[in-house]
Amino acid sequence: MPELTAELQQEFDTVVRRNPGEAEFHQAVREVLESLGPVIDRRPEYLESGIISRICEPNRQIIFKVNWLDDQNRVQTNRGFRVQFNSALGPYKGGLRFHPSVYLGIIKFLGFEQVFKNALTGMPIGGGKGGSDFDPKGKSDKEIMKFCQSFMLELSHHIGADTDVPAGDIGVGGREIGYLFGQYKKLTGRYESGVLTGKGLTWGGSRARTEATGYGTVFFADEMLKLTGESFEGKKVVVSGSGNVAIYALEKAQQLGGTVVAMSDSGGYIVDEGGIDLEQMQELKEIRRGRISEYADANPSARFVSDGQIWDVPCDIALPCATQNELPLAGAEALIKNGCTLVAEGANMPSTPEAIKAFRANGVRFAPGKAANAGGVATSALEMQQNASRDSWTFEYTEERLKEIMVGIHARCAETADEYGSPGDYVRGANISSFVRVADTMLALGVI
Ligand code: NDP
Repeated sequence: MPELTAELQQEFDTVVRRNPGEAEFHQAVREVLESLGPVIDRRPEYLESGIISRICEPNRQIIFKVNWLDDQNRVQTNRGFRVQFNSALGPYKGGLRFHPSVYLGIIKFLGFEQVFKNALTGMPIGGGKGGSDFDPKGKSDKEIMKFCQSFMLELSHHIGADTDVPAGDIGVGGREIGYLFGQYKKLTGRYESGVLTGKGLTWGGSRARTEATGYGTVFFADEMLKLTGESFEGKKVVVSGSGNVAIYALEKAQQLGGTVVAMSDSGGYIVDEGGIDLEQMQELKEIRRGRISEYADANPSARFVSDGQIWDVPCDIALPCATQNELPLAGAEALIKNGCTLVAEGANMPSTPEAIKAFRANGVRFAPGKAANAGGVATSALEMQQNASRDSWTFEYTEERLKEIMVGIHARCAETADEYGSPGDYVRGANISSFVRVADTMLALGVI
């Protein structure tokens, strides 16, 4: 790992000491601090005013018990979280994750990333994240509803359109947001549309929100390609995952002329050299909630691989869209060996630090999630705008706004990387430009 300056190492050591056992949070903090050496050289007041330690400490961390009754009328108990990380730029904003791997360290890493991602969008939103170790897999609709209602019973005390606005993430899609919103409405007696984003279109949702993260990731990658006169046309693309982000990355990559040859879920991956069929994938994953192996069962041109890594499939462009640390060094080495030249992260922190180092060393263009997947939260902010003005925009207009935002984020990252003497380093560009926006605002607001 790159060295930190002595002062930043000290800050990092404090974070590790204060947050023991939270490996993902340490990883996310370290990655940002590694970019900040040159900023601190230019602006020592950030250190002197304690901005680094203040930005690494969440404003508030809420942990609560969630009791609910399963279909056999047995009591189940899960743990719920909401980490309100930083509200310098606006109300806390960030998704809810329901997955058995969730613990405080995961929510804190995601909340920390969200602060910088939201700053990059240029919109007035702070950063937060929440979720539960509840596993939606295999649960009936009724169980999902009962869990969401119980979760909201506590969460409702902490959120609001001007304070904290949750959305979806892994395991939380339109169905869950519906049950959460219904319960919030019942508990408060108010139709407060702006309290959650990712809502359905008949009750305050935004067109293109479902598509936004996947589309945005492809728009960002397309901007990277344009710099060398390339495009998605004729490119082979590997997309990991087959959830919300992955499916709409597939759709947009196809629309721009790419061929998506592989996708995955936690059970393995499929390869279809002729290109994965979008409609079949949507029917399988969004409607039937099936396993990706079933795609290969139904398509003779496709094969399912239950062991090994999706990164062994040769491609020009890789879009990791599943989960954190899913792309380790071995994955990066396989991609490099097979001639992949561009990686854009649809997921949050999917590439390990070792993988990123290998991409850098081998000239693979690399876009970190906090920049490349910011289209989701940006469109959530557009949903908040529509709610505030009681308006509803067309799909075309919303997608155009999303595209403009992604082009803007790309430009901001590229220009900042140039300004700090690291042309093409989107990690540094994203970290520095977002940090400066949050840090300057914190300075302006005083020690609070
Ligand atoms: P979904 O729940 O819709 O899909 C997640 C996908 O990733 C599924 O295919 C799932 O497979 C797979 N997956 C999850 N955990 C693992 C694991 N441990 N190993 C292998 N595969 C796994 O989530 P999203 O598509 O919404 O989110 C995907 C990523 O994108 C996350 O990192 C999220 O934080 C990030 N993101 C999402 C945004 C959004 O708007 N939804 C916005 C910005 C970032 P299986 O079904 O088998 O578990």
